[in-house]
Amino acid sequence: MSSEVRPFVFPGLTTRVIFGQGTLACLGDEVSALGRSRALVLSTPHQGDQATALAQALGDSAVGAFTDATMHTPVEVTEQAITVFRQTGADCVVSLGGGSTIGLGKAIAARTGADQIAIPTTYAGSEMTDILGETADGAKTTRRGEEIRPEAVIYDVDLTLGLPLEMTVTSALNAIAHAVEALYAPDRSPIIEMMCAAACDAIADGLPKVVAAPSNQAARARVLYGAWLCSAALGQVSMALHHKLAHVLGGSFGTPHAETHAILLPHTAGFNAVQTPDELAPVAAAFAPWGDGVGPGLHGFAAAMGAPMRLSELGLTATDMDRAADIAVGTPYPNPRPFDRADIRALLGAALEGAVPA
Ligand code: NAD
Repeated sequence: MSSEVRPFVFPGLTTRVIFGQGTLACLGDEVSALGRSRALVLSTPHQGDQATALAQALGDSAVGAFTDATMHTPVEVTEQAITVFRQTGADCVVSLGGGSTIGLGKAIAARTGADQIAIPTTYAGSEMTDILGETADGAKTTRRGEEIRPEAVIYDVDLTLGLPLEMTVTSALNAIAHAVEALYAPDRSPIIEMMCAAACDAIADGLPKVVAAPSNQAARARVLYGAWLCSAALGQVSMALHHKLAHVLGGSFGTPHAETHAILLPHTAGFNAVQTPDELAPVAAAFAPWGDGVGPGLHGFAAAMGAPMRLSELGLTATDMDRAADIAVGTPYPNPRPFDRADIRALLGAALEGAVPA
């Protein structure tokens, strides 16, 4: 990393964080600490039983559960949830799940001013950010605002022990992508740089142990700790080419979120490392055991963890890459390394085939 201290603004971390094992037991106290007493628990249908049990465990502090959260936060689902929120007289939301459920909590908060407690069960990292992506009429839009950021986050390692291995790996790579882009973001600060370096080290250390033994609690804690740091970084800075391309593929081709990030990351990071070798030195160091340099290191790490490596595995074709390159260069996007359509098409072509980044 460069020894130069750049001028910076650090807005501070405003979200209260409870991290540990068995921390879900703190939820009632956290609801009370917000001055609230009627929580609506949110989840996807897949985690519906867990959410219903959590609402029951909260007793008088919960009004029930809404278990229809859906990926990409469709506005019609948000409207259904707000109807339940109002009918039950809820005064806050508890989002139990991954980015889809936390996205619904944010969408409700953005419209009602409700306080949110997020309880993440993946490593996607929505919980610490002020970012809300939602879909209406088939189009996904993203906005930022302090009213979107959850008031409190409870990280409970126990809730990640059963996260399926494939999702564990792709979600952890999704987290690393936040750290990579935060490290070269123009609005980063030295605090963010430290957090991102620590995040890469924690995930590089923890994820191989989780892959070897998915219920290794200490290793799961390392990965969740890293994911927290990545989420906190994402919530403080602007993103660049990597998130842009993931957004293009997810938004226009319907590719799954975590897998898309996982496959793109070695290619986007490798591309930008040419321009920002000092900034990305912590990434190169953390993943050096798997390859020499940012792109090869991340590529080797992802392969060793058993991640999907090719966009073709998601059903994409060379023709899709042509269209994706057109869309990606259609709207200007800040990035540390200048690029043109040929650059993006070459990058996407390498990701399509799973080639080792140069
Ligand atoms: P997800 O929330 O869609 O979860 C995928 C599936 O895994 C769901 O069925 C979920 O119920 C299940 N699941 C979650 N945790 C589990 C666990 N521990 N055990 C078993 N099953 C579990 O997936 P995701 O990758 O966490 O989130 C993706 C969404 O989050 C996308 O819509 C993305 O845009 C959004 N996101 C937003 C931000 C932000 O800052 N706004 C950041 C990251 C991701």
